[in-house]
Amino acid sequence: MRFDILTLFPELVNSVLGESIIGRAQKNGIISVFTHNIRDYTTNKHKKVDDTPYGGGKGMLMATQPICDCFDAVKAMQGDGKSRVIYVSPRGRIFNHSVAKELSEYDNLTILCGHYEGIDQRVIDEIVDEEISIGDYVLTGGELPACIIVDAVARLVDGVLSDEICHEDESIASGLLEYPQYTRPPVFRGKAVPEVLLSGHHQNIDAWRLERSLELTRERRPDLYEEYLRAHPPKPKKKK
Ligand code: SAM
Repeated sequence: MRFDILTLFPELVNSVLGESIIGRAQKNGIISVFTHNIRDYTTNKHKKVDDTPYGGGKGMLMATQPICDCFDAVKAMQGDGKSRVIYVSPRGRIFNHSVAKELSEYDNLTILCGHYEGIDQRVIDEIVDEEISIGDYVLTGGELPACIIVDAVARLVDGVLSDEICHEDESIASGLLEYPQYTRPPVFRGKAVPEVLLSGHHQNIDAWRLERSLELTRERRPDLYEEYLRAHPPKPKKKK
C-alpha cells in the first residue's frame, strides 16, 4: 500500500512514521510513505503558500495553486489501483477502527494536511474524496492526524505486524476492550499477577481473559458491550 502525504511540514511526518513498526514496514517494502512539501510547488516568488480569506476573518488560508500542483505531481507518481484522497479536518467523518479498515482496502491513500485556518474550499471540491476528523477538538495542523491515520491503517495491512501480534485480538477490533496484561516479575511492590495466568491452564486463562474483557467493556464502553452481546448472544442453557 502506498501513502502520499501533502504537507507544509514533511519532517514532522517523517520523524513520526520513520520509527518502529511503521518505519520497519517501509524498509521491508510492505508499505511506502512519501511526504510532499506543498511549498515546493508554489509559483509565488516569495514561496508564499497562504493568503487572507475573502470576506474577512482571522488567520490565513492555504491557497489553491500550490496544493493542486503538488497533487497533480503526486497523481503522476502513483501507480494504478484503487485510490482515495483524504483531507484531514475537524469537519470530517470521525476516524475509528472501521474507517481504518475501509481505508486499508485502497492501494493509494493520499492525505492532505491543512494548516493555519485551513484550505481554500475549491481545493476540497476539486481533489478531495472525503474529509476525516480524528476527534472533536482542533489541532494546529493536519500532520498529527495524518500520522494517526497512516499508523492505524498500515497496521491492518498484511505483513506489517509480526505473526505473533494479531490486530483482530486487540481492543475495539475484537469488539471488546482488552483484558489486563502482566509480565515478569510475578510480584511487584506487593502486587501479584492473577494466579490463573501462572497456571499454564489455557482454557482457564482464556475464560479469565474473556470475563475481564466483558467486565471492562461493560463498565467503560456500554455501547460496545451492547453491540457485542447482539453479535454474541449468550447460549441458552440446556434443559436437564
Ligand atoms: N478553521 C478550521 C475549522 O474551524 O474547521 C480549523 C483549522 S485547524 C486550526 C488547521 C488544520 O489542522 C486543519 O486544516 C486540519 O487539516 C487540521 N486539523 C485540526 N483539527 C483536526 C482534527 N480534529 N482532525 C483532523 N484534522 C484536524
